Amino acid sequence: MGDWKISTLYFGEGVTIKDMLTSNLDVGMELVIPYLGFLVQDGETNLLFDTGINDNFFIDGKAWAGRPSVGGETYVVKSLGKKGLKPEDIDIVIYSHLHNDHAGNCHLFPHAQHVFQKDEWANFIDPLPSQLIRRDFDLSVIPVLKKFDCLKVDGDLPFRPGLTFFKTPGHTAGSQSMQVRTALGNYLLIGDTAPFYCNLYPKTDEIISMKGEKIKITPAPDVYGPAIPSSIIYDHYAWYDSIYKIKALITAPQYVIPGHDPSLVGKTFG
Ligand SMILES: [Zn+2]
Repeated sequence: MGDWKISTLYFGEGVTIKDMLTSNLDVGMELVIPYLGFLVQDGETNLLFDTGINDNFFIDGKAWAGRPSVGGETYVVKSLGKKGLKPEDIDIVIYSHLHNDHAGNCHLFPHAQHVFQKDEWANFIDPLPSQLIRRDFDLSVIPVLKKFDCLKVDGDLPFRPGLTFFKTPGHTAGSQSMQVRTALGNYLLIGDTAPFYCNLYPKTDEIISMKGEKIKITPAPDVYGPAIPSSIIYDHYAWYDSIYKIKALITAPQYVIPGHDPSLVGKTFG
C-alpha cells in the first residue's frame, strides 16, 4: 500500500484569549486561532480528520468563550472544494474528539463512515453540567451521528495500512490521535490534546499567525514540566500520560500536528 498525504483544511477562525489555552501564560492576550480539519489521502481513499464547527452553534457571531468567530458548513465545503473535492467524496470521517468545533459538520457526510473512541461517545451523549455550562459539545450532532454508520473504537489500534489510532485522553474522555505514514515519515494528528505547538514544547517563545507573522509569547517556567495545559482538561492525570505517549510516538517536533495552531493553515505534510 502507498503512503498518505495530509492537507490542512481551514474551517474558520475565532478570537481567543491565549491564557485559556496556555494556563496563566500571557494573560489577556488576544489570539486569532483557526478551526481546522485535515484531509488524509492515499490516492484511493479520502479521509477527513475533524469537521469544524456548525453554523447553528454561533450566537451573534460568537462561539467558544463568547468570542467573535466565523465558520460553519460553507467553510468546510469551500475548503474541500479547493482540494477538488465535494463532501460526498469523503469516505471516512475520523474525530480527534467530539467537541463542538471538531464534530459540528458531520451532517455533510451522510454516506461516510464516522470513527471516534467509544469513551468519547459515552461522555458526549451524557455530558456533565460543567460541560453543558461551557457548551463544550454541540448536542445537535448527537441525533445526526446516531443515524450514520459509526465505528466506535476502543484504545490503540491499526485502522488501515499506514494509519493507526492512539487513545490520548485527558482533554476529553476519549480523545484520540492518529498516526499517518507518509513518504516523509510518520506524522501524528493529536487534536486538542495540545492545541498549539507551544503546549507540547513549553519553552517555545513564538507563535506563527495565520498570516505568517511571528507573535512573541512567554516561554513556560520550569514548573510547567513537559507541557502547557489548556483550561479545558477533563482528566489531568490522563492528560499528562497522553503527553508522554505523544512525545514517545513522534521522532521530531515537526511530526506532530496540533489541533488549532495558526501556523498550520495552508500546510501540507508528506
Ligand atoms: Zn476540544
